[in-house]
Amino acid sequence: MIENKVDINTDYDLICVGAGIMSATLALLIKLVKPELKILILERLDKVAQESSAAWNNAGTGHSALCELNYTPEKGDTVDCSKAYKICKQFELSKQFWSFLVEENLIENPKDFINPMPHHSWVTGHDNVVFLKKRFETLKHHFMFEDMEFTDSLEKMKTWFPLIVNNRSEDEVMAATRISRGAEMNFGSLTEKLFSILETEFNTPVYCNEDVIDIDPDDDVEWSVEVKNTITGKKQFLDAKHVFIGAGGGSLLLLQKVEIEEKEGYGGFPVSGEWLVCKNEALINRHLGKVYSKAGPNDPPMSTPHLDTRFIDGKRQLMFGPFAGFSPKFLKKGSVLDLFKSIKTDNIKPMLSAFWDNLPLTKYLVEQVTASHEDRMNDLRKFVKDAKSEDWEILIAGQRVQIIKKDEYEGGKLQFGTEVVKSKNGSITCLLGASPGASTATHVMLEVFEIAFPEIVNSEAGKHRLKKIVPIWKAEINAKLFKETIKRSSKSLALDNITIQ
Ligand SMILES: Cc1cc2nc3c(=O)[nH]c(=O)nc-3n(C[C@H](O)[C@H](O)[C@H](O)COP(=O)(O)OP(=O)(O)OC[C@H]3O[C@@H](n4cnc5c(N)ncnc54)[C@H](O)[C@@H]3O)c2cc1C
Repeated sequence: MIENKVDINTDYDLICVGAGIMSATLALLIKLVKPELKILILERLDKVAQESSAAWNNAGTGHSALCELNYTPEKGDTVDCSKAYKICKQFELSKQFWSFLVEENLIENPKDFINPMPHHSWVTGHDNVVFLKKRFETLKHHFMFEDMEFTDSLEKMKTWFPLIVNNRSEDEVMAATRISRGAEMNFGSLTEKLFSILETEFNTPVYCNEDVIDIDPDDDVEWSVEVKNTITGKKQFLDAKHVFIGAGGGSLLLLQKVEIEEKEGYGGFPVSGEWLVCKNEALINRHLGKVYSKAGPNDPPMSTPHLDTRFIDGKRQLMFGPFAGFSPKFLKKGSVLDLFKSIKTDNIKPMLSAFWDNLPLTKYLVEQVTASHEDRMNDLRKFVKDAKSEDWEILIAGQRVQIIKKDEYEGGKLQFGTEVVKSKNGSITCLLGASPGASTATHVMLEVFEIAFPEIVNSEAGKHRLKKIVPIWKAEINAKLFKETIKRSSKSLALDNITIQ
């Protein structure tokens, strides 16, 4: 219980709700710049990183647009790569932050959470091959993607991903791109490391089993945070000048309790993920890389199928997915009433409108939910032709709550990105959505840092310190700076060679 751990009369500069990668990143960035600020992290579960940030609950892809085709949509005759450049820079920013932690001896073994992994895009069929070639031709002229290779040769693909090419003939129309500078992430391990630094170096522990149930304006300090201990049931109130709601899927339900007008019109739609995980060691060792393909024409972006090598807790793994599931819960360990509880008078119109406009998504979900193991195996067989059902088992991943928001023209819109909702004075911030997700945590948490504490971020001392921690943040990136950044993080994060674990 909190009273055993801290002086409950303390007023905090910041309370972070939720102990996932987002709160960990925000709290540590702030402490590195202004160690004297008092920060408290409250978590409803008994450990940190148990929801979306846990290793198996996400795909562990260091999203940098090296292989994800949904970041480069076709626009007429051209391919729009603007989102790819943005996400690529944001992941390098994250790598820069983690490199700083290694260089300062705050993190010992980066291989526990980041490993080099070639990223491939692989497509079949004439139209998709034409698209991939066009995408490659556009990207390769940009300094971020000049190392990308393209092939439509079966022999070449055999060297890149033999498991997928096995039993295929030259008659099949296929093409692929490859970039070796990709990353495989264990965000769970990273989150634990960040919280461990906060606890040991900055005396900022996480208080677990503390469920935040309400956040109200306070007369003296800005916010009063009501917590209920999940073991004893005891309720308490904690005061904070700033609150960050980093509760993952749980963020929307909390935001709806905060009395700020900016929350109005937001709704959420939960989609759960599932993986097929390989149990056959020989098969696991025949694949090394992440291979992303193309989602079906009406399928949502997060349904893009991929076959991935993972490194989790020192063990090499192979997984395929994601398959979508439907559960009304907003968190994996949430309540079946979550979706129902989130429907309010201010969001019912946007929610209904988003539902009608996204009937293909509903159809996709119904098909996914009713799929049998064999149906899923047949999807996998589009990648690994001779995959045997007994070699693979299903594993439930995390919940994503997609944002639904008011739209002037359409009434309501379903969004697949993330959004920071903030009060006018920036004293309360909330992160909604889950894509591109943990990979870009540094970028989005720097945004939250600046909204909440502009006087620190924009002070001379703050700017100077942040320039040391994340030099490319706000910098105009060019080829020279990009190369220097990659060189530095490759060295600090030991990303030069794939070492098989
Ligand atoms: C299937 C799937 C695949 C994904 N793949 C990738 C990927 O390949 N790459 C990538 O970068 N990202 C990926 N993501 C997204 C990424 O996992 C998330 O963006 C990221 O983990 C979110 O971190 P978070 O800290 O916001 O939330 P979480 O890690 O979910 O943490 C939120 C915490 O808040 C706690 N909490 C909730 N409500 C309360 C409350 N009321 N009081 C106290 N505590 C509370 C929860 O228990 C939880 O511990 C994926 C997500 C999913 C679901």
